Amino acid sequence: MDDKIIMIGYRFWLIPLNLYRNRMKSVLQKSLSLTVLATSLLSVGVSAAPNDPATLGQIRDNAIQSDWAYERLADLTDLVGPRLSGSAGAAAAVDQVAAAMRKIGATVTLQPVKVPHWVRGAETAELVEYTGRPAGITQKVVLTALGGSGATPAAGLTAPVIIVRSFDELKAKGAQVKGSIVLFDVAFDQEMADRGHAGPAYGRGAGFRFAGPKLAADMGAAAALVRSVGGANYRIAHTGATGVVDGARIPAAAVTAEDAMLMSRLSARGPLKMHLTLTPQTLPEADSYNVIADLPGTDKADEVVIVSGHLDSWDLATGAHDDGTGVAGAMAVIDTLKKLNLKPRRTIRVIAWMNEENGTRGGKAYFEANKDKLDKHFAAIESDSGGGRPFGFIGSVTPPMVKYFAPLKTALEPIGAGIFERHDIAGAADTGPLERAGVPVFEPLVDSSSYFSYHHTPADTLDKVSPLELKRHVAVLTALTWYLANMEENIGRVPQQPE
Ligand SMILES: [Zn+2]
Repeated sequence: MDDKIIMIGYRFWLIPLNLYRNRMKSVLQKSLSLTVLATSLLSVGVSAAPNDPATLGQIRDNAIQSDWAYERLADLTDLVGPRLSGSAGAAAAVDQVAAAMRKIGATVTLQPVKVPHWVRGAETAELVEYTGRPAGITQKVVLTALGGSGATPAAGLTAPVIIVRSFDELKAKGAQVKGSIVLFDVAFDQEMADRGHAGPAYGRGAGFRFAGPKLAADMGAAAALVRSVGGANYRIAHTGATGVVDGARIPAAAVTAEDAMLMSRLSARGPLKMHLTLTPQTLPEADSYNVIADLPGTDKADEVVIVSGHLDSWDLATGAHDDGTGVAGAMAVIDTLKKLNLKPRRTIRVIAWMNEENGTRGGKAYFEANKDKLDKHFAAIESDSGGGRPFGFIGSVTPPMVKYFAPLKTALEPIGAGIFERHDIAGAADTGPLERAGVPVFEPLVDSSSYFSYHHTPADTLDKVSPLELKRHVAVLTALTWYLANMEENIGRVPQQPE
């Protein structure tokens, strides 16, 4: 249904041109000719009312027909591949994105960022003792080290497995934890994700993944395991950052949902022992960059609207959804506006953040460098929920501000993306410091019901991204960025009180 509406919208722009050429004298022609006049004015970047329906419609319809973002996503994922901070892939991605943005005429700056440099090693595990084990039998456990994990000895370690489902349950185990391998067996709530609440479902699991291994380390555990945080139970392990620190950097890994369930069943029969080998390395911090690409504004050029995604990815795959779609989508905002020769009043700043996944150093470095210029940051958009179908956008403005977005909602309705979901806090990662300091933050509102099936796994590859959804994504991001860059109203927030 949406595609038909898009096509009608597209034809609308062709019909008036023909009528104009034929110089037909009808009321219809007069009104359509005015549209043509508006279009020709826009084509040289002159617009008395930049947020008028015609301009917003033109942005939407051009974005929805362009393959440019998908081509950039293919370059990033197929040519560079994995991009974990400090890796050669991350460095190549910085060069590639900077070059692509220079090529379309953006003003590119590389902002230096010091990043963690963690490298995956061997990762194997077997259940070597359990009640009822036939002689000579062990069970393989599929797992993957969590970012920041410490290492076992090269030959591995063997220890009893303790299974818990909450922090309180772990604390209650007390001295039993010392020298053990702790497994947090908390299932990802796919039902929540299916019904539009993938974020909170992920947040719950990620809480155990981040804080669980550190708590286990503090209690003297030999290693910590978490059940993978994500859906699609194809016995695939989902990595992610964990919070273990130097001095107690124990080995920490995510096991597949299937293997977590196996261990729970076996432990119900009696004591369970695992042989675990993880040999990642934590190397000295590395030099990297945020890629910043500006499209200068006109009469409010000193004010900035950020549109962004994170350039780094986990190392298991090519980060197509997380966050290739965010980066390519943000890049395409400038491409779309350049092709239409539209000049925003405020400067549009595309940022490809470095190190969102295991440190958010890029977001922190940008905030530090700009904390005296926050009043010049009108708004910041961050896209980091994958390339699923967009239904609209989220924004952390106060309730009285919502009405000012009505024209933008109307412009996005034909592609089914007219919802504006207001939040007190958008809560995105890289723009978090800006938001806490009072800058309104926006995000595309996307269908993320299947996002956590691929997120942080070896399956987050280009083939999982729908070209059509990416086009819709670009339409939402470009229309939203343009709208914010030209708004008259002051939508500033009150800074969050420090806790
Ligand atoms: Zn991400």
